[in-house]
Amino acid sequence: MLKRVRCDCGWAVESADEDELVAEVQRHAQEVHHLGVTRVQALSLAVPVE
Ligand SMILES: [Zn+2]
Repeated sequence: MLKRVRCDCGWAVESADEDELVAEVQRHAQEVHHLGVTRVQALSLAVPVE
């Protein structure tokens, strides 16, 4: 299932691969916001894309 995570800053990522989605969210959070995000936190933000 394709899922999307949208950040408060307007950035978003879509992937059908959970590992990839988590990695992209973690990279964005670290590089742009200097925040650590756990896998659970990243997945909790993911919503299915219709
Ligand atoms: Zn952001």
